[in-house]
Amino acid sequence: MSGAKANIEINERYCKGCSICVEFCPTKVLAIDAFVAKVENADACIACMQCELRCPDFAIKVHKL
Ligand code: SF4
Ligand code: SF4
Repeated sequence: MSGAKANIEINERYCKGCSICVEFCPTKVLAIDAFVAKVENADACIACMQCELRCPDFAIKVHKL
């Protein structure tokens, strides 16, 4: 069973791999892989919205569950 509070959608065409979302995520859901953000630990997401709000390129959307 998943504990995730949201689905994280990353638009790889917008993401420049700057790592800001990784730094601000309080539960380490995100990681950088080949210069693009990816969801590494989906179950840990608490739907805090920080990744979507801090991304300068509008590459992340948080879909609350
Ligand atoms: S903050 Fe945005 S542009 Fe930067 S790595 Fe995360 S998703 Fe990509
Ligand atoms: S919504 Fe919050 S907990 Fe979920 S991935 Fe984004 S920053 Fe991390």
